[in-house]
Formats: sequence, structure tokens, C-alpha cells
Amino acid sequence: MVVRCFVGLFEVVVEDLLGRIGRLRTRSGKVVETPAFLPVINPIRQDIPASWIAENLRAEIVITNAYILYKRLRNEVLEKTVHGILEFNGVVMTDSGGYQILEYGEVDVGPEDIAVFEEAIKTDIAVPLDIPTGLSSREQAVESVEKTLRNLETTIRILAERSEKHALWVGTVQGGVHLDLVRFCAEKVREMGFDMYALGSPTPLMESYRFSKLFEVLFTAKSTLGYDKPLHLFGAGHPMMFAFAVALGVDTFDSASYYLYAEDDRYMTGTGTIRLDRLDYLVCECPICSNITIEELKKLPRKERVELIAKHNLYVCFREVAEIKQAIKDGRLVELLEIKARSHPSLYQAFREVVLRKDIVEVMEHHTPLYSRRGINIYDDLSLKRPEVRRARRKLLENFFKNREVEYALLLPINLNISKRRLEELLSKHGVKEVDILLYGGPYGLLPLELRYTYPFAQTEFPKHLSCEEDVVETVVQQIRESRYRNILLLEGRGVYIREAAKKIEEKLREVGVKVEVLYIDRES
Ligand SMILES: [Zn+2]
Repeated sequence: MVVRCFVGLFEVVVEDLLGRIGRLRTRSGKVVETPAFLPVINPIRQDIPASWIAENLRAEIVITNAYILYKRLRNEVLEKTVHGILEFNGVVMTDSGGYQILEYGEVDVGPEDIAVFEEAIKTDIAVPLDIPTGLSSREQAVESVEKTLRNLETTIRILAERSEKHALWVGTVQGGVHLDLVRFCAEKVREMGFDMYALGSPTPLMESYRFSKLFEVLFTAKSTLGYDKPLHLFGAGHPMMFAFAVALGVDTFDSASYYLYAEDDRYMTGTGTIRLDRLDYLVCECPICSNITIEELKKLPRKERVELIAKHNLYVCFREVAEIKQAIKDGRLVELLEIKARSHPSLYQAFREVVLRKDIVEVMEHHTPLYSRRGINIYDDLSLKRPEVRRARRKLLENFFKNREVEYALLLPINLNISKRRLEELLSKHGVKEVDILLYGGPYGLLPLELRYTYPFAQTEFPKHLSCEEDVVETVVQQIRESRYRNILLLEGRGVYIREAAKKIEEKLREVGVKVEVLYIDRES
């Protein structure tokens, strides 16, 4: 007897923001590491064969279309299975006819036919026939959600009649840009008991660079569906937004862009696409770009040129995913977002809106580990909203400053090197006995001297201008107001920014009625 140790279909290994490294196990026991990018394979043309992608990019998972297989290769795929047709032994996900409905308006099969067919061709991950909303009106969106939910119920009923399932079944959430419909659909899908979830039809949002809306839709779906099962994003488009999708809770995503862009002579980079006629250098070291010059590429016959650009584009997509996974392991996904946000102003705008949304960052903080093996780099006011900073500030406030019963607080510049002897002299000169020594000028507000070598304070790097950022000064004022210090001594520092910080702290404290005595460093020495 074979005993299979089955600990569940999805296991989260490491989290960062809402992104996670996970292990997705199929019913046949194959395991895929997530987040995973699924190249879309056209089962008829196989322009870039799945076997090439597996061999050259170590792809563990691809997606193809069950509806096209049903219409064009039914008997052959029933005989050979979908893996046989694709000549690919990894994990295969099959989309239903949803994409065709989005493109052509309708398909001529029912959800029952597709469900039975997907099981019969031994697909590993199966999508029921859903009705994409696209960018339709509210009325049409309501209709697509209702039809999708009816189809999902039919699929669940068909599957329940079978003694065994081969595939992991995916519940698709529709609703387009209508957040209440997305939430409603996600609630219903969650109740149905699917193995995985997917968010449908965001492609039109991406094509029109409406990233803010896309992220809102994603967060709405994810927060309603919960965090226990994997979420797939259909049509993830350009690699510059992969990191954002992952940071908002997407575990797997597919895209046909690598080929569609290539057909249009568009060469992908990590931050955008460049039209071949405007490209003067091959800005990539992938095996394709390393073996050809830009002049040679431009002169190739169309078919060969498209194939090479598509292969290069695939390398870019896979490299992006590797970078995202490394960032999650290092606990610096937010820093990757900060870099990627600079790819396009709309993406930057959307990133800003995500970071400033209290409900989103609260959930992200909950899923971000308490420690990371890499330090924390802070660049600007947006970095100050990242989970580690929020958390450290809150803990300082709750565990240190709140109702602190010490008479004196001595505020020292964070960049000051002062010996213990000099510090004692300074305190006795001012008749101070009971005192908290607090460092100002760092991103966390005031830092108690005794915590300066602990995480995350010692591991944080930040530019000097941040010392006098309004957000930082406000934090200092809040910390002082929560405490019960009766005397504040502030030692002015050296350097433009730290002096500016001292000045602002003094002004703000006086504004709220806190008395500050400023000591000048040169007069103290
Ligand atoms: Zn390349």
C-alpha cells in the first residue's frame, strides 16, 4: 500500500507584505514553488513550445486553453492528455473559454462540458467556464458575475458527482472595476470550496495603465477571499507590475504578453518595453541577446525575429520572478516596489496610493515578519510608511513612551559621538539625575539610547535629509506628548540636516506647549 504524506495543497514558506513564497501541490503530487509565472501556450501553434521553456527557463508550470483544445484537438488530447499534447511534464493549468468570451463575445460550450473535459485531459489546475467582466458597464458586470457564479455552482455539482478529482479547481472572481461586485463575487466563491482562486479580466486595466484601480480590485478580492488558498491573476501583462501583484497577494499569474509584444516588435525590459526600431543596444545578457547583435536582430525575417524577441521577453519575465522571490526571502519586497514604481508615473501613483491606504498597510504589516536577514533601507516619506517602520514606531510608543514616568529627557543628535564621561558632566552641569537619553534625527522618531544596537534600529540606513522630514518630527512630538517628562533638554547637533531637525522639533514642541531647553554643543564642549 502506498501511503502519501499530504500536508495540504498549499503551504506558505515565507511572507513579506502580502507576498509569499509558497509550495503548491497538485493532486498528482507535483510541487510548484510560488510566486510562479505561467507562460501562456497556444496549444495549436505552440510558437514557443512548452518543452523549450521547461528546458531553457526551468519552467515548472504553464497555462494553455481548454476551450481551444476542446474545439480543435478534442480526440487527440483525450488520448494523449494535455501533457502529451504540450510535450511537457510539469504542472499544466488550463483556462476555460473565458478569454475567448472576452475577445469574441461568446463560446458554444457549457460549463458541464468544459468541467468533464478538463478532468478527462488530466490537467493539473482547471478553471471552470467563467464570464469575464472586462471594462463593461455596471449592468453588464452584474450579469457576468451572476452567470459566472451559476457556472461555478454547476461545475462544483458536476465534480461532486465524481468519485475522484484529478485537478485542483479554481474559483474565478469577476466584477471588473466595480468593487462591491468583486467583494460580493469573492464572498460567494469563497463559500463554494474551491482549491484555489483567481481574479479575472484585469487586462484592460493594465493596457490603459490604470494601476491604481487594478490594485484596488486586487486588494478587495484578496482581502475577501482570505490568505489560506493561492490566488491566480489572469493576464498579468508586463513584468514591471509582477512585483505589485505579488505584494498584493497574487501567488500565480499568467501572461501571453511575451509573445503578443514580440509580434509587435516590442522588446521587454524590467521597467517597460522598447520598440525594436527605437532600440540601439540589446540591454540584456540573456542567452538570446548574448548571441546576436541588434543589427542582426533587426535584419532577421519576421518569423525568426518574433521568435527571438519572444524568447528574450520570456527571460525577462522569469528573471523578474526570481528577483521578486529573492526580495521576499530578504524581507525587502517593499524596496523592490519602490524601484519598480519608477517604471511609469501611473505605477508610481498607484504605489503611493497603496502605501498611503491605512487598511492595506495594516494587513501588510500583519503578514510581514518581525525580523529580516537584510537591513532596512529608507529613502523618503513613502518608505516611512513601510510595515517595519510603522511597527517599530508603534512598539516604541506603546512599550516605552506611553506614560513614561521620568523627570528629564535629554535629546541627543543621532550622529553624535559622545563619551560617557562627557555625558555625565553635561548632566551634572544641568543638575539632572533621573533621565532618559533619547536620540533624535532617525526615522523612528526618538530612539532610547539603550535600544540603538537592536533590530530594526541598528539595521536601518537612511539619507540625512530624512531627519527633518515632517513625518519624523511629528513622531517625536507624539512620543513626547504620550510620556510624562517634565523637562526636555535638547542638544543641538552638527550638520545641516540635524540642526534643522533640532530646530523643527523645538518649534513643534513649543507649539503644543512643551517647554524645551536647548543646549548648544559648542558651548558645552
Ligand atoms: Zn535578452
